[in-house]
Amino acid sequence: MQRWLQAAALVSAFLAIPAARAAENPCNTDPECHFWQTQGSGGAYWLVPYRPFHIIGNLYFVGSRNLGTYLITTPRGNILINPNFDANVAMIKASIEKLGFKYADTKILLISHAHSDHNAGAAKVMAQTGAKYAVMEGDVRTVETGCAADFQYGDKPGGLYAKAKVDRVLHDGDKVELGGTVLTAHLTPGHTPGCTTWTMTVRDGGKDYNVVIVGSPNINPGYRLVNNKTYPGIAEDYRKTFRKLKSLKADIFLGAHPDYFGMEPKLAKGKPAKGKSDPSAFLDAAGYQAYIAERQVNFEKTLAQQQAGLRK
Ligand SMILES: [Zn+2]
Repeated sequence: MQRWLQAAALVSAFLAIPAARAAENPCNTDPECHFWQTQGSGGAYWLVPYRPFHIIGNLYFVGSRNLGTYLITTPRGNILINPNFDANVAMIKASIEKLGFKYADTKILLISHAHSDHNAGAAKVMAQTGAKYAVMEGDVRTVETGCAADFQYGDKPGGLYAKAKVDRVLHDGDKVELGGTVLTAHLTPGHTPGCTTWTMTVRDGGKDYNVVIVGSPNINPGYRLVNNKTYPGIAEDYRKTFRKLKSLKADIFLGAHPDYFGMEPKLAKGKPAKGKSDPSAFLDAAGYQAYIAERQVNFEKTLAQQQAGLRK
């Protein structure tokens, strides 16, 4: 759980929000989403719709309240990052249409990493739009087996989702190009073996901006960083990820979950002109580096705790 969600939970407890409110959380009744609650991770706001908005240049937010989905529009069709759960796909389609774009123009489908809150809806999006699916090598088996090959959740039947065939296998540094837009796939492993951080340059108001969409630097409940038989190199992979993430320059800081980059507070601070977004709301180079540094401290602390636990 992220810190602001914990804070929100505390506020809810303090205000004694009626139990009925918890029952209204759509994650409670959706099997794919509820699985994550059984694993002690997330769930709140993942299936709660959010108004789509223009971020900067040809980049738009079309996700839910705490699942990051991004639409990149080009003259040759569009790129979609993160279809999320099967139950999110209809919301994403509605968000794309609300912005005035065509869902059927989705030509390329990408993901942050192979966890069902970001990729379970892939098969549905591909069937509905004909989009081609490009996935980082380390996550290909997991998406093609519908989670059965996953190092952490593969042995848990509740975590299975629709299998999706990958059209293009990506490697670190590969480019995904469409209609003049180029995205770079950075391998940032640990959270999953093929966890991917996407970067692109967008032009807005005559200026270029570096966009970074963080895959995930987080350690899920139950992850074993030492003596992990199904992912032996996990700790070293996280360290590679922190080195890589620190080396990226982010003018615009985004991620797989909006609470990585504080989407709602940033939107509240923005001063959009009528009918337009305020791209400056997401300019946060320092916030990006601070987030990565804080997550690295969290990683080292968790690793040390697990190592100490083994020595006892
Ligand atoms: Zn994840």
